[in-house]
Amino acid sequence: MAQKTRYKEIFIDKASQFGFANIGFARARKLEEEEDRLSNWLKQGFQGSMSYLDNHFDLRLDPTKLVPDSKTVVSLLYNYYPEDDHLSNGEHKIARYAYGRDYHKVLKTILKNMLGELKELIGNFEARCFVDSAPVMERQWAQLAGLGWTGKNSLLINPKMGSYFMLAEIICDLEIEIDHAIRDHCGTCTKCIDACPTDAIDQNGYIMDASKCISYLTIERKDDIPQEFKDQMDNWIFGCDICQEVCPWNRFSVPHDQNQFFPNENLDKMSKRDWIEITHEVFDTLFHGSAVKRTKYKGLKRNIDFIST
Ligand code: SF4
Ligand code: SF4
Repeated sequence: MAQKTRYKEIFIDKASQFGFANIGFARARKLEEEEDRLSNWLKQGFQGSMSYLDNHFDLRLDPTKLVPDSKTVVSLLYNYYPEDDHLSNGEHKIARYAYGRDYHKVLKTILKNMLGELKELIGNFEARCFVDSAPVMERQWAQLAGLGWTGKNSLLINPKMGSYFMLAEIICDLEIEIDHAIRDHCGTCTKCIDACPTDAIDQNGYIMDASKCISYLTIERKDDIPQEFKDQMDNWIFGCDICQEVCPWNRFSVPHDQNQFFPNENLDKMSKRDWIEITHEVFDTLFHGSAVKRTKYKGLKRNIDFIST
């Protein structure tokens, strides 16, 4: 067996042992084809106040600048679809990925442990792990690695498991057998475009004005939420899953079994009044170690007030 095929088998086995739902491989190279698209998107200001997306333009296009002599970008999917999703259905809705402990930390630890075991099997090699890290074009790499296509909602859609998964990468200097991209299966569907309450998705799909997206407004935006969105928030106070909820490919989602992603039990006890009257202390208890901490108390309170008044 060729060495690059053997490496691939070792990575696939390890990823499965560490709970990843899927893994794919692409040759590390500059993403020339993304240069114009990324630069146009930024020029149109669709990144809102997420100025960090303007930075590291060269690094983002070229993984060999992040890991010298890198040969392969390994993309991994981790399922976060919850068995019980009532926290995304009430009067104060939270996006499903944020129910439990912060996935950046959870997945970084899992990836580092996995990398340690890979090195024991293969021998030492250069590698870096990334989880939702700005300098890596995660969705594009996962797409090149055959893990799905970019849907009209700008999310990666996997034909067997939909879109409720997190993306992570290992960029390494091993030459590993690569996979091939699959075709777009959105077809004539426009469900995500039609359902988006803020019209953040272009009418023809595939282009997202992040500055209008509820995920951006509730998480990334630091200033007040503009009044034009007053009646469009659909009760979301952290993130938004609407364009995933309506996507037909998510009928294939199966619940995850990662106990670190289960919600804090106190979240279940929050009444409408508790949310409106949330204090700093309650926020700290509810969201200790959670991705919701990203908004800080002030941001979450702003979001709650915006939909309540
Ligand atoms: S996450 Fe919500 S607001 Fe953002 S594009 Fe999807 S449906 Fe629209
Ligand atoms: S809802 Fe339809 S158009 Fe949107 S991403 Fe899913 S399949 Fe594609």
